[in-house]
Amino acid sequence: MELERTLARLADGARQMSQADAAAVYLLDEDGACLTMAAVSGLPAALYQREPVTVERSPLDEDALSGRPIIVTDTDTDPRAANAPGDYRSALCVPLMQEGAPVGALHVYAAAPGRFDEEDAALLSPLADLGAVLVAAAREIALLKAQESGKAHFIHVATHELRSPVAVSQSLVRGVIKGYAGPMTDKQADLFGRVSRRLDFLESLVNDLLALAAGKAAGPEEKEPVLLNGSVGRTVLLLQPRAEEKGVALTLRRCPDRLVVQGTEDGLERIFVNLVGNAVKYTPAGGSVTVAMSRVKDGIEVQVIDDGIGIPEESLPQLFQEFYRAPNAKSSDEIGTGLGLAIVKDLVERYGGRIEVESGVGRGSTFTVTFPNVTVDRSSRS
Ligand code: ADP
Repeated sequence: MELERTLARLADGARQMSQADAAAVYLLDEDGACLTMAAVSGLPAALYQREPVTVERSPLDEDALSGRPIIVTDTDTDPRAANAPGDYRSALCVPLMQEGAPVGALHVYAAAPGRFDEEDAALLSPLADLGAVLVAAAREIALLKAQESGKAHFIHVATHELRSPVAVSQSLVRGVIKGYAGPMTDKQADLFGRVSRRLDFLESLVNDLLALAAGKAAGPEEKEPVLLNGSVGRTVLLLQPRAEEKGVALTLRRCPDRLVVQGTEDGLERIFVNLVGNAVKYTPAGGSVTVAMSRVKDGIEVQVIDDGIGIPEESLPQLFQEFYRAPNAKSSDEIGTGLGLAIVKDLVERYGGRIEVESGVGRGSTFTVTFPNVTVDRSSRS
């Protein structure tokens, strides 16, 4: 879309600069066999060539694509202009060349004969060069996007296939640990305990990779109004048993307004489950985690505050990178993949928000998510 708009501006510019009556930009396909009309200026809709034209059947382009501008002083007498649209009598065709190879052609037309000369060709050449660079850049970006989404699709399929064998193995191992297969020696119990922890890790890796791949493979996501108070409240309820089991006090400071964010239910819950889950995970027994929602000038702020192990200052810049784990987290007993915060950041930004962190070793951590442009739902009170 962006390229189309830019090429339309290029066609407008070419028409004005050469004082032509109409202009068109044609792009060459990958094989260099066909040209497709990509943008026009001043050309009546009836003259649009919607079907691609083979280069062979357009001698004007065939000549120009060899790398030099072609001037047609009268389409009535110049056989190369047999394909020129409408009743235009003059035409100038300037190739779009990228690193010595043609990527398309810029055409300008005029109703009167003899309207274009070498000076017009020289005037339009830099414009054509600019067009060629833009086309090459747009193609490069499209290729990178396709590769990225292909990779994400592969990860998605591979991890999805791993999910159920991991879950089945985990439940079998848990059964053995609980003694369903008979009593075990201490050595066996120790080994099975280790296997179970490895499987826990594998399970979270598979889930995080799936979430990451789903985010990357997704295009612009369908967003809908979601009640933020609900997502945050459900997260705290979900993680309360884990906090209790660990001896960490988990509290929620609610916001009296019912605030609506443009996002998805799943995505918002994933954001807070990750942040609150981390806070509980990296806070030792006896500590506390507070989730506080408050209105700020430009929207709503959700803070996840803990008094746990904290994050070394030098780790803060890398924290949201995929697979990064701070040294004190790695050396703790807590299992982690280093993918959670990368997923969180991606989602927060998709929903138009931002995330910040403040922390220091032994000082605890505060993660702040801010969503601007929230609306207040006045339909009922929670
Ligand atoms: P992990 O699966 O390792 O928890 P995340 O991507 O969720 O991965 O977090 C990346 C790293 O950020 C963690 O490994 C840890 O070093 C640090 N971290 C995140 N949240 C906290 C927290 N509340 N307290 C201390 N360290 C944290």
